[in-house]
Amino acid sequence: MTLPQAIAQQDGFATQQLHAGERRDAAVNPRATPIYLTAGFVLDDFDHASELFSTGEGFSYTRVGNPTAEAVERRVAALEGGTEALLVGSGQAAVAITMLGLLQAGQHIVSASSIYEGTRGLFLDNLTRFGIETDFVDDANDPQAWERLIRPTTRALFAESIPNPKNDIFDIAAIAAVAHAHGIPLVIDSTLATPYLVRPIEHGADIVIHSASKFLAGHGAVLGGLIVDSGRFDAERSGELFPHFVERSRLGGPGFVERAGGNARITYLREIMALRFGPTPSPLNAFLINQGIETLSLRVERQSQNALGVARWLEQQPEIHSVDYSGLESNPFHALAQRYLPDGQGSVFSFTLRGGIDAARAFVNAVEVFTHMTHLGDVRSLILHPGTTSHNLRTDDELSQSGIWPGTLRVSIGIEDLADLIRDLERGLAGVRAGTP
Ligand SMILES: *Cc1c(COP(=O)(O)O)cnc(C)c1O
Repeated sequence: MTLPQAIAQQDGFATQQLHAGERRDAAVNPRATPIYLTAGFVLDDFDHASELFSTGEGFSYTRVGNPTAEAVERRVAALEGGTEALLVGSGQAAVAITMLGLLQAGQHIVSASSIYEGTRGLFLDNLTRFGIETDFVDDANDPQAWERLIRPTTRALFAESIPNPKNDIFDIAAIAAVAHAHGIPLVIDSTLATPYLVRPIEHGADIVIHSASKFLAGHGAVLGGLIVDSGRFDAERSGELFPHFVERSRLGGPGFVERAGGNARITYLREIMALRFGPTPSPLNAFLINQGIETLSLRVERQSQNALGVARWLEQQPEIHSVDYSGLESNPFHALAQRYLPDGQGSVFSFTLRGGIDAARAFVNAVEVFTHMTHLGDVRSLILHPGTTSHNLRTDDELSQSGIWPGTLRVSIGIEDLADLIRDLERGLAGVRAGTP
């Protein structure tokens, strides 16, 4: 039993992040959504079992559905303004399940080139082996650049709302229009923005993806991924492009459009993709993600404020060549950020030291409050040198195209006191001046 949908639709973001999708149990009434840490569920009597298998309503086995995971799905669907969501084991699983569910061999993706390295690797190394090709757009906010790369076999456009480390904010509405002119979906990885800063579906996106390991959880204790659907799959417009959503089932039963209408896509991802490929999240992780989401707005608001404070301070320092933060008035993406991210511009960005890789090494080795690690969206502030870690598979040309230079460091700003973060960054700069190894 869940709360009436009215609660999710009328109330503000902070209320929804606490109450949308929460479970109420008839027999007992725990305040927190319980951890249903079980592989499966007891089937009542003979007829209940066959009914459950034919309708898909209710719970049978955790790979098919689990009440703790469902609570996260309903909550994030509400926060994103989508109709349904699917929780999987990681952000990578969310991207893989989505793309493999939309495309088949011989088909084609057009993607912004400024995307998460794991996703880029999935497109370049894995999907190519399944006969799915990807073309990359460098000038991702130019509709013509996308238009030029779209083929008759293109079945998805892909981009991130806030790419990192360059913070080249994506113009969702402009490229959604291109996608819809071709009857194909725009898929947005909105991990760095979270629904608190932007809800891509409101701007025309069709599918929103999150690595819940980052801001949604926030505590950095678990991995998780989410796929949220707009519920606007239009069989009349796009049915021929996606026959697997329309066709009758293998045994001649109703197809996904007939059963789920505008939710055909996400229903297919749940029942055919996630069920069979099996990226099932642990109910314990689902619980921890749900706990994180309850403070999402507070954390992201504070992180964005801290990030702006840090970016403004960094911009003033003589050792620093540039700061790629869209919240700064000097940033080329500032106007887009004001339009899409009026409540805060996020907290993951990069800055470039004049002293190149030696300065970057000295800086990273000198800071004490910032944690040196490859993760982001944590309540703690984090720092990383992308050129020699996350982006080490890019050529020098590709690196500079992505705004990554030898002296570039990426930070994910946490919820610490701003003054302490700045003191720590001063420590980093002192390290650079001293030339410590
Ligand atoms: C981390 C990340 C992913 C991958 O998520 P995992 O949970 O680590 O699998 C995908 N996209 C973006 C933007 C990310 O930051």
